Amino acid sequence: MVRTLLLKAARNEAIKDAALRVGVTRGVVERFIAGEGAEDALRVSRTLVGQGLQVSVDHLGEDTRAAEQAEQVALAYLDLLSRLAEAGLAESVEVSVKLSAIGQLLPGDGEQLALEHASTICAAARAVGSDVTIDMEDHTTTDSTLAIVAELRRTHPSTGCVIQSYLHRSEADCERLAGSGSRVRLCKGAYSEPESVAYQGHDVDRSYVRCLRVLMEGEGRPMVATHDPRLIAIAADLATRNHRAQDSWEYQMLHGIRPEEQRRLVAAGHPVRVYLPYGTDWYGYMVRRMAEKPSNLALFLRGLVSK
Ligand code: FAD
Repeated sequence: MVRTLLLKAARNEAIKDAALRVGVTRGVVERFIAGEGAEDALRVSRTLVGQGLQVSVDHLGEDTRAAEQAEQVALAYLDLLSRLAEAGLAESVEVSVKLSAIGQLLPGDGEQLALEHASTICAAARAVGSDVTIDMEDHTTTDSTLAIVAELRRTHPSTGCVIQSYLHRSEADCERLAGSGSRVRLCKGAYSEPESVAYQGHDVDRSYVRCLRVLMEGEGRPMVATHDPRLIAIAADLATRNHRAQDSWEYQMLHGIRPEEQRRLVAAGHPVRVYLPYGTDWYGYMVRRMAEKPSNLALFLRGLVSK
């Protein structure tokens, strides 16, 4: 119930505007987000890489309403990638991109615009020895996103994509995506989805295991994006059963969530990548984190009253 309400709020422009006006970034920034600027993303990336972690940096923002705004987001990624290269971090730090932030949902030629911006970002990433993973948003965008990823992979084969285990379709998508050279980030899924398209409750975890089995048996690089201790253990077990080299797959977690577990896995020799958001448009991202764990709401509200 709380989760559904929060996820509805994540898409509510009036609540978003009010929250952004109040500006509660302080408490939020400390826990889940690197900061507002690219220099913050660089600073936190450097620390994480120093701890043996890899990073995927996300420029916060989604549901872009104008072509100029989409272009600004694409330019922000190009700037970030050149700064990562200058800092010598590009090999350990990739970028995560939401297609809706670079124009996918604009009427008319939105998908084409998103493809063009994503291609430019992929080319810039490749030029500095970095990489790109395309995030997955709500189920109305899944077909479009996977089609754009397929197009991107023709020129940039290592472009990663995300599969959400809560969708009924996902095991079949994993079968299609498990081939050589693919990079697939498997997560449970963070949006409010109807029962007509998505599993609910424990069925999401069962689907996660089925999808993971397909990816681990395949020839691509599974990117196991979860903080769930049971799924973390199952991933290691499936990797062993499939005789996978330790560097042929990786764990991924969100910045600020179970950091001690991130370090424990690194110490045990597993590659671990941290998803690190930065920017001013933190509202949708933060509300999804609260929906996953409503006690995070307290942190958010403390940020409000301490302003
Ligand atoms: P859960 O069952 O939600 O959590 C397991 C345990 O992890 C909890 O008991 C708790 O201890 C801890 N935990 C989980 N979430 C939180 C939180 N917010 N605050 C504090 N503790 C928490 N979703 C998408 O829909 N599209 C994407 O592109 C996408 N990309 C992602 C990339 C990465 C690297 C990761 C890790 C997640 C991504 N997600 C994405 C989010 C994902 O779908 C889940 O919503 C999120 O990871 C929580 O699911 P979980 O597997 O950790 O399991």
